[in-house]
Amino acid sequence: MKKGIHPEYKEATVTCASCGTTFKTGSVKEELKVEICSECHPFFTGKQKFTDHGGRIERFNKKYQRND
Ligand SMILES: [Zn+2]
Repeated sequence: MKKGIHPEYKEATVTCASCGTTFKTGSVKEELKVEICSECHPFFTGKQKFTDHGGRIERFNKKYQRND
């Protein structure tokens, strides 16, 4: 049997490119970068932050907001 075939599973520090937060996860790499994370993903936060460049979503919501 050869050794080193299976990568060692260790704790990785993940850095989010969107909000800059870091958190730990298990990975074969020690350092990871993600575009989006649970801290800033709208699915988790309920906010539309990372795709809203220039307030397009905000304007959209205002435009189609109903007051009835
Ligand atoms: Zn994030």
